[in-house]
Amino acid sequence: MLHFPRLTSRSAVFVAVAIISAVTFASAQSAKLGSPAVGQSLDQQIVDPQIAAALRQISAQRIQASIEMLVSFGTRLTISAQDPAAVASGKGVGAAREWIKSEFDRYSKDCGGCLEVKTDSFTEEPTERIPKATQITNVYAVLRGSDPANAKRILLVTGHYDSRNSDTSDVNGDAPGANDDGSGTAVSLECARVLSKLKFPATIIFLTVAGEEQGLNGSSHFAKMAKTEGWDLQAVLNNDIVGGDKSAEQDHSVVRVFSEGVPAAATEQDLRRIRGLGGESDSGSRQVARYIAEVGRTYGAGVKPVLVFRLDRYLRGGDHYSFNQQGFSAVRFTEFREDFHHQHQNVRTENGIEYGDTLKFVDYDYVAHVARLNAATLASLAAAPAPPANVHLLAKDLENDSTLTWDASPGGLATEYEVLWRETSSPEWEHAQKFGNVTRATLKLSKDNVIFAVRAVDGAGHCSLPVVPVPER
Ligand SMILES: [Zn+2]
Repeated sequence: MLHFPRLTSRSAVFVAVAIISAVTFASAQSAKLGSPAVGQSLDQQIVDPQIAAALRQISAQRIQASIEMLVSFGTRLTISAQDPAAVASGKGVGAAREWIKSEFDRYSKDCGGCLEVKTDSFTEEPTERIPKATQITNVYAVLRGSDPANAKRILLVTGHYDSRNSDTSDVNGDAPGANDDGSGTAVSLECARVLSKLKFPATIIFLTVAGEEQGLNGSSHFAKMAKTEGWDLQAVLNNDIVGGDKSAEQDHSVVRVFSEGVPAAATEQDLRRIRGLGGESDSGSRQVARYIAEVGRTYGAGVKPVLVFRLDRYLRGGDHYSFNQQGFSAVRFTEFREDFHHQHQNVRTENGIEYGDTLKFVDYDYVAHVARLNAATLASLAAAPAPPANVHLLAKDLENDSTLTWDASPGGLATEYEVLWRETSSPEWEHAQKFGNVTRATLKLSKDNVIFAVRAVDGAGHCSLPVVPVPER
């Protein structure tokens, strides 16, 4: 699991090799499954030149400037000062909040006011890590979808702008939070700067939250708002600790993508179906993770996503979980190897060990690669049709063929549909077969042996998230 081949380049030679290996792979697979060879092997999507050009605009220098500015606020602890005097002095969480807002405003000015810059502000009552009632403010920018029939669909990227040192109640001591989570905040900002120059049918939200270190308070409030207001939030990308800490054992060629297996919000009925059909690895969040892997291969973001089939790091948590709890698909990006001397620590040197989350340990090129992977995912999904609805696998009669039905992708962007499948033991989708602009497909493959999904594709090759069918008897 520790060593992965570097990203492949999209050369003609590669394509030729890919086609040859696709054929070999398909026959090897079909031999294993005892079914005739059908479909194409699935590896990459079609490159959209506009998205590729936008990714080239992502700048390690701009990201560095953002993280340096965030560190300059001294501490961004959620319960640190945020009164006008503190904001004016440039110290504390309030000053950070105002700066983030001014950055979004600046990007919006550059695109003729294309971003709606907003805050989600609320009072958190005292909790274990919040000694007195405290105002918490999430800052976000909305790039509204250009197509009224698709603008309701939302893709979201987030990072937390609050920080902490060794003591979660130290409101004055430095808590630079360069990596945790200046890096993730910078990813949201840089995605906003670059993607706001493009237009997408669906809506993208660039979010920065506070309160993460006090108990996921900001993301929890935001996710509940999205749920209460009935948002069609289709994917949440949480970036937390994506600075590529320069410790000796760091692997700068990969980034981890964590995704829940059994959804936090699964109902009893969902759980029965998951147990009965082997659906433990097919949550919406996991489909987002697989989509990220495919997009990473398509656009060669400079860093390879490594899918970790687990909600988060062992016994630890983050803001994506707030969204999972409300039933949304959400994943977490984190550097490959964290250095715990550089997280949640007062800045100091002890026995020759440097502690503290300072700028010197952040690799800005790495953060830029992670930002490219995020931007490519957001752009691909925002350009794509809505996923097909009501996807069913017909199970009335016992037969070795498999028939899937679905409702057309809402919003009118789809020109064809693709059935994906993989062996039950495979981590990623392996094969795809296109079926034109139809709502039913029969494959010479047994539903007993593989897991299916259906996705919608538009004329330019943009692919929706895949939807795993439910049985229809
Ligand atoms: Zn964090």
